[in-house]
Amino acid sequence: MTHEFNLRVLPEEAYNEQSIISYLAREKSLQANAIRIIKRSIDARQRTIYVNLTLRAYVDEQPEELEYTPIVYRDVSDCPEVIIVGAGPGGLFAALRLIELGCRPVVVERGKDVHERKKDIACIRVNQIVNPESNYSFGEGGAGTFSDGKLYTRSKKRGNCEKILNVFVQHGASPNILVDAHPHIGTDKLPRVIENMRNTILRCGGEVHFQSKMTSILIEKKHVTGIEVESNGHHSTISAQAVILATGHSARDVYRWLAQNNVHIEAKGLAVGVRLEHPALLIDQIQYHNRQGRGKWLPAAEYSLVQQVDGRGVYSFCMCPGGFVVPAASGPQQIVVNGMSPSNRGGKWSNSGMVVELHPEDLPSDTSHDDPLCMMYFQEELERQSWLQGNQKQTAPAQRMTDFVNGRLSADLNPSSYAPGLIASPLHFWLPKFVSDRLRQAFRIWGKQKRGFLTSDATVIGVESRTSSPVRIVRNNETLQHITIQGLFPCGEGAGYAGGIVSAGIDGERCAEAAADYLTK
Ligand SMILES: Cc1cc2nc3c(=O)[nH]c(=O)nc-3n(C[C@H](O)[C@H](O)[C@H](O)COP(=O)(O)OP(=O)(O)OC[C@H]3O[C@@H](n4cnc5c(N)ncnc54)[C@H](O)[C@@H]3O)c2cc1C
Repeated sequence: MTHEFNLRVLPEEAYNEQSIISYLAREKSLQANAIRIIKRSIDARQRTIYVNLTLRAYVDEQPEELEYTPIVYRDVSDCPEVIIVGAGPGGLFAALRLIELGCRPVVVERGKDVHERKKDIACIRVNQIVNPESNYSFGEGGAGTFSDGKLYTRSKKRGNCEKILNVFVQHGASPNILVDAHPHIGTDKLPRVIENMRNTILRCGGEVHFQSKMTSILIEKKHVTGIEVESNGHHSTISAQAVILATGHSARDVYRWLAQNNVHIEAKGLAVGVRLEHPALLIDQIQYHNRQGRGKWLPAAEYSLVQQVDGRGVYSFCMCPGGFVVPAASGPQQIVVNGMSPSNRGGKWSNSGMVVELHPEDLPSDTSHDDPLCMMYFQEELERQSWLQGNQKQTAPAQRMTDFVNGRLSADLNPSSYAPGLIASPLHFWLPKFVSDRLRQAFRIWGKQKRGFLTSDATVIGVESRTSSPVRIVRNNETLQHITIQGLFPCGEGAGYAGGIVSAGIDGERCAEAAADYLTK
């Protein structure tokens, strides 16, 4: 027999199956032999922290063996082909969905497989050398691989988040992501999951080509006929009637190619700013209202902040509790910072992007606002400015948070998780005034709302510039094909239709469905 309960319990009662079973015996007079948690969230609004649980208790019965619903991927060796450019979450979920629908995915990825990619990621950290084809943005798994692996999305409407989580669990992610209100996988676990997804594609007869960069899209009479690929200096052509373009928001060469070849794109708003790094203990103390921090049973604390300042949103972005600030540049003369964390979120610092919303009309008046690449040029210039402030390697410009707010250069800096190192720089001065003034105001406000948040122990690190795509590759809302090119499916974050791992995965699935539909009509 099974019974379902909604419980509100203390953290020490929530994180151990046996203690929940004891709680049920004590409080509900139920002798369960096993439980399965269905939903779990932390309520940290009051001084006493509670964990809300929805669970199923089993009496004289065992839970189902699998905690997820397995998807059957069949052999598609002889099925119609769809090219997918990019093996990020958008591309990988498109490939898996195509297999479900009876199409054969041919994935083309400019970067290396996840194992080889790890070496290039280490090289950025240790030698400060960025390989422009294999870095935090490019390579198997895309920008999502060496990330926090946070799997929640603000977009509830755009499809089935649960399906995406389910596919991750089927490929090796912890079933906890199916129950936690704020699920995350962790950068230590993600590469294995991504590798398993690739193996499913290959086992079913699909293809995955690494170090193979799409250099052009072949178009005849406004119909896609294939792509040109460069691999180890050799050029070749792959033909197909449908191409899913899932190249992410850092593939600036792809945007340039589209603009030069009159494929309709438009400038898109984005948000830019800095990474803010606090000691994790301080964030735990603030968020859990406890001088002792999180204690033994609670995870590293998160926060989410948003404030309107002078008509534009200022907000925290991609918060990484117990994580690291990472050098996320994808080319020369760039400093770009981002954040990631391991599954246990056990690091000494907690960081978050702190960004200001920016629209094309906010750019300086001498900008060519009609140019669809104007936001990308702004982004590039900001990243170059950031690079110029440092040692022109990957050392990032930084300032104590209070010095940033008070407009002073920092005499010295806090220790930081950012491995290539920091250099003191007046970010308040050289960041665009539009951005720095709003950030400083928001920091003051949040400092008043959360005692201890505005502190000289926190560090502002520049620049956080890759929050979303600076370009929209415009597509038809119904067919998901490019507005003028038949058979071209702009997909995921780079096309401007997703922001984050889950929404890119959902968009990948939608584009796969649209491409399969197109091929069978
Ligand atoms: C450090 C970091 C941490 C992040 N943390 C999180 C997080 O915790 N949670 C979250 O939801 N999101 C996070 N993000 C954002 C998330 O990773 C992206 O939103 C997501 O990966 C977008 O998916 P995508 O498939 O659209 O594009 P991408 O993941 O960018 O993938 C695009 C792929 O296309 C390939 N490509 C580009 N051009 C070509 C070409 N010409 N030929 C062939 N291949 C090409 C690239 O190499 C890349 O692998 C993080 C990003 C970074 C950088």
